[in-house]
Amino acid sequence: MSSSQPKLVQGYEVVIGFETHAQLSTQSKIFSRAPTAFGAEPNTQACAVDLALPGTLPVMNKGAVERAIEFGLAIGSHISPKSIFARKNYFYPDLPKGYQISQFEIPVVVGGQVEFFLGDEKKTVRLVRAHLEEDAGKSLHEDFIGQSGIDLNRAGTPLLEIVTEPDIRSSDEAVAYAKELHKIVTWIGICDGNMQEGSFRCDANVSVRKPGQPLGTRREIKNLNSFKFMQQAIDYEVRWQIDQIEDGHAIQQATVLFDPDTGETRAMRTKEDAADYRYFPDPDLPPLVIADEWVQRVKAAMTELPRTMAARFVADYGLPEYDATTLTQSKAMAAYFEAAAQASGQAKLVSNWVMGELSRRLNSGEASIETAPVSAAQLAVLVSRIADGTISNNAGKQVFEALWSGEASEVDAVIEAKGLKQMNDSGALEKIIDEVIAANADNVAQYKAGKEKAFNALVGQVMKASKGKANPGQVNELLKSKLA
Ligand code: ADP
Ligand code: MG
Repeated sequence: MSSSQPKLVQGYEVVIGFETHAQLSTQSKIFSRAPTAFGAEPNTQACAVDLALPGTLPVMNKGAVERAIEFGLAIGSHISPKSIFARKNYFYPDLPKGYQISQFEIPVVVGGQVEFFLGDEKKTVRLVRAHLEEDAGKSLHEDFIGQSGIDLNRAGTPLLEIVTEPDIRSSDEAVAYAKELHKIVTWIGICDGNMQEGSFRCDANVSVRKPGQPLGTRREIKNLNSFKFMQQAIDYEVRWQIDQIEDGHAIQQATVLFDPDTGETRAMRTKEDAADYRYFPDPDLPPLVIADEWVQRVKAAMTELPRTMAARFVADYGLPEYDATTLTQSKAMAAYFEAAAQASGQAKLVSNWVMGELSRRLNSGEASIETAPVSAAQLAVLVSRIADGTISNNAGKQVFEALWSGEASEVDAVIEAKGLKQMNDSGALEKIIDEVIAANADNVAQYKAGKEKAFNALVGQVMKASKGKANPGQVNELLKSKLA
């Protein structure tokens, strides 16, 4: 992590490592051709292979492997030329076959790192690995009949489990890491990122220690499916662990669940060790061999990554790093910016409008960037009219509002209809200025005596007399020269 001093909670340092399950966006299961679509009738989407019925054999889905390679390339990992599928054996009602196919000793993706900003501080979280595995089914608890059922639709859905080093030092960092990871997997399109549907599920391993001490015993909070719950769960867990230790109790390694209703975490089971799972190589699957040529092909077809794109925005458009980072928070936002910047040649002005007026409206939930009523092409015309002095920035906001509300669809038509053109005729402007100077002798005298405020008052008078149509820059210039 970064070199800055960690924030302490009641004298304790918080240590967090993440395990994230990203559901890969393939049409079919990881080892069969059964569909992965969400929301089907229970038990209609698992086939004999997903359930490992006798006489069936799993066949690796190439699309899932390709997505894992893309992820590894996106975060600078090593792609294993040969990785192994292993059986992880355990009993659970939603896993009738008694084992999950996963990767153990040699995962497909090794190392790499996720970088992000927390405020203006740059953080780096190292990854241990990312491995391919299949999902299990789901237990459905039907409270109204007091019974539980099993839905096996999800069995065999491809997952990429992404594991970090214990590099995270606070709940804020944890959320920032998870958001960055979410951005990466959705940006490169390997996962739809839908947290409600369970496409992106995070487990947070949390421990506390006095600074300089070895790592404390961790508890793992399972299945955090919203960023808000993630923060609440970790904050609660940290306080709980510190209270235990301060009361003289040792922390027991355990798996816990967060209950959003009470805001508390509670132990689900004591944690198994790897040995309990009796991992062994799956005899039904050959080693996964990934030739460098395959990696190169995937790389060549990959979309530009957010960090590369941000660096390009700085280099090509002269944007400040802050703007470039903000604009690359989503692919759609970046594309919008770039289209408007190229069409207008006014990158910084476009950036200001996208991060200001446009984002303000998107954040209030009025629309998403994909459905924004003001298109990139319209914004390009709008900022061009500001840049060439046709309208003021304030008039630009009125134009934006008219386009947004659907009142009009053409920038120039709005400018015309609302009479927003700035007065660029210096003859007419000079006449107004002369009148204002004549009518405000007090202010003129005060300005000449060195009072800057008096000058602003004169500018205000001119703007008012011009009904806001004078170009403020031009007013300043002309007034100064006349009063000199
Ligand atoms: P397991 O085999 O039980 O899953 P791992 O060694 O794979 O354990 O670690 C799982 C996760 O827990 C990793 O993200 C790791 O960084 C994190 N982790 C390990 N030890 C600690 C600790 N003491 N405190 C917080 N997180 C930890
Ligand atoms: Mg693990």
